Amino acid sequence: MRVFEEVDAARTRLGEMIAEASRIVVFTGAGISTESGIPDFRSPGGIWSKMKPIMFDEFMASEETRLEDWRRRFKMAREFTAVAPNAGHRAIAALLASGRAGAVITQNIDRLHQRAGAHDAAVVELHGNAFGAACLECGLETTLAAAEKTIAETGRAPRCTACGGIVKSTIISFGQPMPADAMRRAQAEARDCDLFLAIGSSLVVYPAAGIPLVAKQAGARFAILNREATELDPLADAVLRGGIGEVLGPFALG
Ligand code: NAD
Repeated sequence: MRVFEEVDAARTRLGEMIAEASRIVVFTGAGISTESGIPDFRSPGGIWSKMKPIMFDEFMASEETRLEDWRRRFKMAREFTAVAPNAGHRAIAALLASGRAGAVITQNIDRLHQRAGAHDAAVVELHGNAFGAACLECGLETTLAAAEKTIAETGRAPRCTACGGIVKSTIISFGQPMPADAMRRAQAEARDCDLFLAIGSSLVVYPAAGIPLVAKQAGARFAILNREATELDPLADAVLRGGIGEVLGPFALG
């Protein structure tokens, strides 16, 4: 493992690794969106210092908890809509547009990669996203607006209009099964790349944090860009320390 502490050195090394790669996969966490004004989980002032997450089994067990979950989801969707993608998102969109990167695998639920210009098909959302809703039984999709209207009119959490099942936002909660297609696609992308670039993730939330290991085991170079140490630093070929915007900014220009 080589650690690059200076921004210039980190940027130079990243540029070299990108130039030497023929298929890059980018993996992002909450850290890439902090410069857009969305707090991450584990930094001081992060989401977990303010409220405890609602676990999937708690959501399933109680109508009151479901109503609280929906209140948080409506607020979150509005907050995410009000912010804009930053230089980090734009740099990744540019890497995808140039064909150097084939996919971005993200733990984020804010859709800022897509809003920066990444094609939907190139974004693998491991934890879903904050802008949809669907029945947990039959999968029928509905909208946040419909859920909000139901709650306003009835005071009850929405049920599926087709099968009566519990409707939930398309965010994957802690304790909820991972989306099988997204996991399969992420593993395949990780196996097929020659440079795996993890950006803005503490790399502690599993199974997502297992994806870089798939790439590493398949022989890819593995680089981490994060302002503090992560769990997987010892396995990385290069650890780039610094703010994401300052290190990735120049790559946003293509
Ligand atoms: P995390 O909070 O555990 O880690 C974020 C990491 O990014 C930290 O190590 C922090 O030091 C680093 N970081 C923050 N801002 C940075 C910056 N500007 N430059 C460089 N590094 C920076 O987040 P995680 O690893 O993604 O895992 C937590 C879970 O959080 C995920 O499951 C994700 O679904 C969820 N989450 C998503 C959002 C979002 O969609 N924007 C926001 C909060 C949490």
